[in-house]
Amino acid sequence: MKKSIYILFLAFISIFFIGNSCNKSEGKSMIVIMLGPPGAGKGTQAIDLSKKLKLPHISTGDLFRENIQKNTNLGQKAQSYMNQGLLVPDEIVLDMLFDRVAKEDCKKGYILDGFPRTVDQAKALETHIQNNKLVVINLEVPDGKIIERITGRMTCPKCGEIYHKTYKPPKEDSMCDNCKIPLTQRKDDTEEVAKQRLSTYHQQTEPLIEYYKNQKDVLYTINGISSKEQIQQDILTSIEKSK
Ligand code: AMP
Repeated sequence: MKKSIYILFLAFISIFFIGNSCNKSEGKSMIVIMLGPPGAGKGTQAIDLSKKLKLPHISTGDLFRENIQKNTNLGQKAQSYMNQGLLVPDEIVLDMLFDRVAKEDCKKGYILDGFPRTVDQAKALETHIQNNKLVVINLEVPDGKIIERITGRMTCPKCGEIYHKTYKPPKEDSMCDNCKIPLTQRKDDTEEVAKQRLSTYHQQTEPLIEYYKNQKDVLYTINGISSKEQIQQDILTSIEKSK
């Protein structure tokens, strides 16, 4: 009797350790980072992914725009940087983001869109989250496609659905298909600001690709000019692989 209890105990211990070593992400919250140039489709993909994974979509750009709309102190500080296509300073971004991810809905993980945008921000995130599962999805889109994508973009101010005048036109001219209200264009989606945003991306954000390449099994690069459905499928496959 004693022997069989001992064998059962050993079996239990081995299953526990084998299980843990096979799936290191088990029990950890998953943080998905959407990386890529402006206009790569990070927001569009993050919205769909958020529904599928049941994790909140957190866009630092959207958080800033909400603050600007409400005319908060934070919004006033961020606005001039955004209008010029420059990055908002870290001391403003980090507090805002960490306040958001401390909320209850982020306990099981979240999808970050537009953060981190610098290696310093990535390091600050790692210090803050520690021991969570990180998956970085890098959407690759050539520069030649970016400006056209950005300047044709329109968003529903209510549901956040993103349209494009050529690639994803609404059924009725400039109206959201879901909410039936006029679509709006972002203030920084003009050609001049888009060019600056692209240059900011190359200088300050692109080094993150190398940074995450140097971390084992974290970075997944996906062709961002396939169809919306294909890209979503590639993202889901990458997330599955990372487990
Ligand atoms: P997005 O909606 O992600 O394209 O962001 C719009 C603008 O918000 C950017 O051009 C920046 O000015 C600002 N912004 C958004 N996220 C960040 C961030 N992580 N760090 C600094 N600035 C940001």
